[in-house]
Amino acid sequence: MSGPFLRASGSGSEDPAGDYPPLPEALVVPVYDNHTHLDSALERDGEEAAAPLDYREQLDRASSVGVRGVVQVGTDLETSRWSARIASHEPRVLAAVAIHPNEVPELLAAGRLDEHMAGIAELAARPRVRAIGETGLDFFRTPDEAGRRAQLRSFEQHIALAKEQNLALQIHDRDAHTQVVQTLRRVGAPERTVFHCFSGNREFAKLVADSGWYLSFAGTVTFKNAEPLRQALEVIPRSRILIETDAPYLTPVPFRGRPNSAYLIPHTLRAMAAHLGTDPSMLAAQISSNTELVYGHWDDEPVDPPTGPFAPHP
Ligand SMILES: [Zn+2]
Repeated sequence: MSGPFLRASGSGSEDPAGDYPPLPEALVVPVYDNHTHLDSALERDGEEAAAPLDYREQLDRASSVGVRGVVQVGTDLETSRWSARIASHEPRVLAAVAIHPNEVPELLAAGRLDEHMAGIAELAARPRVRAIGETGLDFFRTPDEAGRRAQLRSFEQHIALAKEQNLALQIHDRDAHTQVVQTLRRVGAPERTVFHCFSGNREFAKLVADSGWYLSFAGTVTFKNAEPLRQALEVIPRSRILIETDAPYLTPVPFRGRPNSAYLIPHTLRAMAAHLGTDPSMLAAQISSNTELVYGHWDDEPVDPPTGPFAPHP
């Protein structure tokens, strides 16, 4: 399909997205990107490299290459509100809402964590919000004990909320595999639990799949040094596999270092299929079916027509 962005692309000056990779060849069988941040700018050396492409352009590009829909993921109250609002108007978007574990220590120190969590709970009841995420534990970014305790408490609250609202759970697990699993077992995991941007090896993948949870693979699976991830992919049943971009981060090979977006997921899918020795269309069909089991159908709830000016970003 052609959208306004296609005419604009390459025109240079007013295209903030000059650095975005070109459109890949379209998929024959479509998939969903179950974890993306349409609103986030790529950071380089701690600074925002450029404003992200307008979210509608990202979705148009995605549609044009066979990416049927996305789960737009919030990381704090503000971006979670934006995610819920965009999902309520846009048929190609479902929302996930949460306070990211890396936001938790600072909010706690400011005495605002409970208030923000109450805001997330309110959003969780909204139509087209289908997941609580991303939540979890990040021991890489939070080395201190007090910060980790705060993350753990917040993670438990998010798990409880997912169960209460019967929503999927999207887990951010960085250097915290053991503690994430212990927590899920202690409090009881929601029925649909997803390890977003799965980062474990073969043994951990087996454990996650045997527990009935899902593994979502990002562009990292295409990286040269990611042999353990590809081994993880091999040992799990196909019924546990999801795919995501985590855009604007983790751009798949051959475009590492440039901004990522949902329309680049065909690169990741084709690399996974090649590694598994299967046809990309077979894998796409399986992943789409898995995705709909976790989040429901994108067209189950009708969207509201947009009213008033539509703020492009939070
Ligand atoms: Zn993310």
